[in-house]
Amino acid sequence: MKKLFMMPGEAARALENLFAYAGKQDINLYGNSGYRSYASQKQVYKERIKKVGKKQADEYVAEPGASEHQTGLAMDVTNKEGAQGRLMLDFGQTREGKWLKANVYRFGFIMRYPKEKESITGYNYESWHIRYVGVKAAKEMFNKNLVLEEYLGEK
Ligand SMILES: [Zn+2]
Repeated sequence: MKKLFMMPGEAARALENLFAYAGKQDINLYGNSGYRSYASQKQVYKERIKKVGKKQADEYVAEPGASEHQTGLAMDVTNKEGAQGRLMLDFGQTREGKWLKANVYRFGFIMRYPKEKESITGYNYESWHIRYVGVKAAKEMFNKNLVLEEYLGEK
């Protein structure tokens, strides 16, 4: 899990604790992509455009410079099948995905792009993308069912 250590310290430690806690409950989570440099984000974006076209790419992959992955506070989480390379658009339906959604706030993370908040976040539902905000904020957002934009009072 080398990628963890490229995240800012606090978020990286929280992620390790989250994964360890999950593991004790027989939920095996894997980090898919944490920190991405500008160059690799650009590459991801370009490849996605090639595959699905610009409109759809914009809905899923932030333009280089705009991705949360560049902040080092975001992580895409997956399960064993995902870690082995299977595309996990249905991760939210898996045992691991359901567990993640229910427990991630305990460690200071939020589900960044929930299904019912697409119009507020501007992103399609991503059942795998979590973002570190600290335990206090994460708990409040979880209890009140707020996304980051709502929590920060932007929308
Ligand atoms: Zn992501």
